[in-house]
Amino acid sequence: MYGAIALVVASGLVVATPQPSKADINIFDLIFNGIQYIQLSNLNDEQEVDLGRQTDQALQRQGVRIYNSNPAVVNYVDEIGQRLATTSARSNIPYTFQVVADDSVNAFATSGGFVYIHTGLIREADTEAELAGVIAHEIGHIAGRHAINRMRDIALTNGIVGALGVSQDDLVNIGVQLALFLPNSRGAEYHADELGFENMGLAGYDQQGLITFMSKLAEGGSPPEFFSTHPDPNNRVNNLQTMYQESRQPGATDGNNPEVYRSQISGV
Ligand code: ZN
Repeated sequence: MYGAIALVVASGLVVATPQPSKADINIFDLIFNGIQYIQLSNLNDEQEVDLGRQTDQALQRQGVRIYNSNPAVVNYVDEIGQRLATTSARSNIPYTFQVVADDSVNAFATSGGFVYIHTGLIREADTEAELAGVIAHEIGHIAGRHAINRMRDIALTNGIVGALGVSQDDLVNIGVQLALFLPNSRGAEYHADELGFENMGLAGYDQQGLITFMSKLAEGGSPPEFFSTHPDPNNRVNNLQTMYQESRQPGATDGNNPEVYRSQISGV
């Protein structure tokens, strides 16, 4: 879509600057000396998706290993994700669900519909409803525009927003930092839990899945990556249990069979 993206390596050096084609230029973007600038106040969905794609490529250059040795499992995760994307509070953008070859129990989302699930988390879940709960939570971060809002805040705080906007390279670098190192705020985590919980029910999944998965992790010895963020896991579980009692989706009971789940993820 956009041709004028300078490829930036970890050192921040510009290593390649492809020439833009006229068709690539969005009216909200400005191309200046081969660097693309984005006006964050006008960021549209198409730009956010493109930013997510650029961030995805940068994450992979940083060593995030996309798992594709077991296509059946990759497709399975994508099917769950697309089912939840359809009923999400932000269903009008494309979603990309990818499995990361990493034993740690973690999942994360960047911007523009990009969601990452570690193989370690897939193994830790006992049912499809539990995995769906985590994916729904990550979709909640995207629906809540949590990453994109933080990117804006960080860009403003660091004084890298000029008259032209922010360079796409700078935004991508911030996106990578957020995805790998900087936890979400408490408010964003609760918001993603709430959006995810609601979405699970709309998609027909048993909403207990998110609760049982979080409870299991909260009871474990050392808190996994998924809980490296501020809110106490037990508070999140309590919050979800209250939602379950007060506003669960009647008839949402899918994804509860552990044997079916085991067979779907065999070989991971
Ligand atoms: Zn989260």
